[in-house]
Amino acid sequence: MLNVLFVATEAYPFAKTGGLGDVIGALPKAFPKVVDARVIMPFYGTIPEKLKESIKYLDHFYVQMGDKFDYCGLLTCTYEGITFYFIDNEGFFKRAALYGYFDDGERFTFFSRAVLDAIAFLDFIPDIIHCNDWQTAAVPYLLTHQYRTALPNTKSVFTIHNMKYQGIYAYESIRNYLNLGFLPSDLEYYGQINLMKGGLYAADLVTTVSPTYAQELKDPYYGEGLDGIVREISDREVGIINGIDETIYDPKTDAALFVPFSNPDKKKIENKMALQEYLDLPIRSDVPMIAMITRLVEQKGLDLVANVIHEILQLDLQLVILGTGDATYEDLLKTVAYNYPDKMVTIIDFDENLSRKIYAASDFFLMPSKFEPCGLSQMIAMRYGSIPIVRETGGLKDTVTSFNPETKKGNGFSFATYNAHDMLFTIQRAVNLYTETPALFKIMVKNAFNTHFDWKLSAKTYLAHYQKLIGK
Ligand code: ADP
Repeated sequence: MLNVLFVATEAYPFAKTGGLGDVIGALPKAFPKVVDARVIMPFYGTIPEKLKESIKYLDHFYVQMGDKFDYCGLLTCTYEGITFYFIDNEGFFKRAALYGYFDDGERFTFFSRAVLDAIAFLDFIPDIIHCNDWQTAAVPYLLTHQYRTALPNTKSVFTIHNMKYQGIYAYESIRNYLNLGFLPSDLEYYGQINLMKGGLYAADLVTTVSPTYAQELKDPYYGEGLDGIVREISDREVGIINGIDETIYDPKTDAALFVPFSNPDKKKIENKMALQEYLDLPIRSDVPMIAMITRLVEQKGLDLVANVIHEILQLDLQLVILGTGDATYEDLLKTVAYNYPDKMVTIIDFDENLSRKIYAASDFFLMPSKFEPCGLSQMIAMRYGSIPIVRETGGLKDTVTSFNPETKKGNGFSFATYNAHDMLFTIQRAVNLYTETPALFKIMVKNAFNTHFDWKLSAKTYLAHYQKLIGK
């Protein structure tokens, strides 16, 4: 048996703000039987009450932070066959949201140290500690520099889900949490601590969530200041594409849908008309509906959308946007929708249930990202028969193939340059295909619907890397 401990700050259904939550909720379940994969995460106040009922006390200990000791409760439960552990400290984690606090640096370096301390209280010695994003990047660093005696044979894997967020904090603010007497060069970034940098240097293997993003990160345009380090460690950096949990995202059984379906041919129109009624849009089966379900931030191409929104709305289409994020985009999209009540609806909310209804109802799913490490939304969209319109970057490039009307192959529309009018022309092409050649549109929907992003394949690739690391 190969023991793998996933360290993460999100795991669906306990906590999710984006793709990371989906990944940690799904990947541990996808391994073959030779892997015992467990997950350790913070015990957030926001974990749904129903799930909290199954979480039980296991132990407690104190985490040393300089000359201070902080309480740490260790809780556990089993969910769908996977053992979850939770790090409990009310001061740090009993809050209204997962992130966005002035002391996030302290909160997650505490978490990272607590994870390494917690292992002594488990009946489980990890062969691999698999860390995810900056919040857990201190784990490989501490493992290498401070926990080698306690865990002599444990290897670390660090996965970059998004290079934009690196965890950069003043040395003084988290030095105690990392037990540092000086600022080592592996962590130093313009005089501060960069946790992502420390993780990249210390991890035995660095992975990211698509082959294209793994290459892009070596380029200053995508590398967010760390491209030099990615080039330096490129012999132990790989890109492994994410999948989606096809049992959670299943239009056949999804209770959130107006009309569940196993064949998108007829039933998608029923879902579209039900959503039009629900959102107070004109009820028309013949109009193409374009959806966006996203964080409203620049990464997701919102500035392109903002640039040509009026041109988009000159076309005969309906646009449905569900998201939260930067106030500028929230306000703009609300205002535009107010001015085009027959064509556009903006819902500023994070609503899982509504998101499923929109995936199922829409004909197209717009994702013009500036960069996209992997992207799950385009995969979910295809699973619900909605055709992705994407920019060719990162995981979007690896999962969406442009439709060729001659060969009738391809599952989406794409454009290469990050340019508002290139996006607009692509949307026009999509709308034209929908209205002028319905037979081709039907084939495209089928192609998208039949594209599968199975976690089992990615899990096999991870397993091969784990085995290489521990010399098996
Ligand atoms: P990222 O992790 O960069 O936000 P991904 O495409 O990898 O982007 O994953 C986004 C996930 O979050 C998808 O499951 C998507 O459906 C979901 N999501 C994003 N915004 C919302 C929202 N406002 N309401 C419900 N679900 C959302």
